Amino acid sequence: MFELMPLPFSEDSLEPHVSAKTIRLHHDKHHRKYVDTLNQLVGGTGMEDMTLDVIIQAASGKPEMRAIFNNAGQVWNHDFFWASMSASPTEPNDEIRSWINRDFGSIDDFKKQFKDAATGHFGSGWAWLVVAADGTLQVISTSNAETPINGDLWPLITCDVWEHAYYWDYQNRRADFVQTFLDHLINWDFVAARLETEAPQLRSSAPA
Ligand code: MN
Repeated sequence: MFELMPLPFSEDSLEPHVSAKTIRLHHDKHHRKYVDTLNQLVGGTGMEDMTLDVIIQAASGKPEMRAIFNNAGQVWNHDFFWASMSASPTEPNDEIRSWINRDFGSIDDFKKQFKDAATGHFGSGWAWLVVAADGTLQVISTSNAETPINGDLWPLITCDVWEHAYYWDYQNRRADFVQTFLDHLINWDFVAARLETEAPQLRSSAPA
């Protein structure tokens, strides 16, 4: 059965950017609910021993498995969201900067594109920095529980733009939350680890 991933930081450690109250509600209520519902849905079906990735692939596009897909996707996306943030400041290393400069122009251009994707996304969803199949970095958004692992994209970071991610702290100001995420919360060490070990298509297209 699936378990709620512990936070990789203490619930008050993202303050003042994200309050302990928001983190507690988001992780202990919203994220936990997806885990509990997924366990109820897959218990006794044989799927409870599969990995989340396999369940997401198996349930994708199947109307009769929509609830399983939604809850598995939300568990995966939240696990990845917590990992995308750091309680202590991190900076993109030289290699990441070279990828971002090549594909977006500059770090600021990357941030602008990510912010536009996150704020322009209508309704609930996620903004992502991903490695595309051609080895380029791209910014995308997905709706509801949709996830880039359900395709040929390799995610590096995500920002949750469901209202529950920011409403206590930022009310309707999603853009301010996303800007804070970009300026203060991204775990660039996690991005480096993702690039270092798990993005073969990117490694084979290194900038000169
Ligand atoms: Mn969420």
